[in-house]
Amino acid sequence: MIDMSGLYSHKDYEEVLERFKVSSCRWSEFLDVHLEVAKYRCPICEISLREGELKSRVSRRGTTTIEPTIDPLSSKKYYRFLKCNPKNYI
Ligand SMILES: [Zn+2]
Repeated sequence: MIDMSGLYSHKDYEEVLERFKVSSCRWSEFLDVHLEVAKYRCPICEISLREGELKSRVSRRGTTTIEPTIDPLSSKKYYRFLKCNPKNYI
């Protein structure tokens, strides 16, 4: 697990938070700041998310590449009220 506690004090956080609000809660606005704080790793499993180091998985359906995203994992259907909560990461 990566310590993400520096997120809110990141120099760009306030600006990104503002963009998140005016974009009707587009989570991708946070991506660059998140990647920087997490040192380009998944905060949970620490897999590298740097371009060129992204892991690929081959299956019968083809190759799947892991790409960084920070869309909230909560079910959007049941937890709509969390969509625009900028602290709803999980
Ligand atoms: Zn992970």
